[in-house]
Amino acid sequence: MSAERVPVDPALFTWPDEAPRLLGSECRDCGTVVFPAQTSCPACCSDTVVQRRLGVRGRLWTWTVQSFPPKPPYAGPATPETFRPYGVGYVELPGETRVETPLTVADPGQLEIGMEMELTIVPLTTDAEGREVMTFAFRPVAPTGGED
Ligand SMILES: [Zn+2]
Repeated sequence: MSAERVPVDPALFTWPDEAPRLLGSECRDCGTVVFPAQTSCPACCSDTVVQRRLGVRGRLWTWTVQSFPPKPPYAGPATPETFRPYGVGYVELPGETRVETPLTVADPGQLEIGMEMELTIVPLTTDAEGREVMTFAFRPVAPTGGED
């Protein structure tokens, strides 16, 4: 018996599609793309924005390793005792936007600015009904050699 899975927020990505995409918005007036989607354009204030399925590959623009649990209301399943450091970063999707995202890698030796990253859907936590809550993250397309 496998646990039921639900998206953390169905507005963020198209999972459980076979090839999930992030859902951003695009301004019809100036072309600005943002993620998460907004109802008006942060660049020109137009409210003529449409949903846009973003690309699934980009380059790591910057990153850090979060080494302490986020404060509520962002707390995940971890307590201070079970918390494990995790990577967070911005991935630049070519011609679109930079996406702030968790990374699947928390080892600084495996993260390098400019490396190619791709979208993946990963388990975040388990909700009160025992369902697995899924969220998006980016992972390195090809593992680095691991040399320091
Ligand atoms: Zn605009």
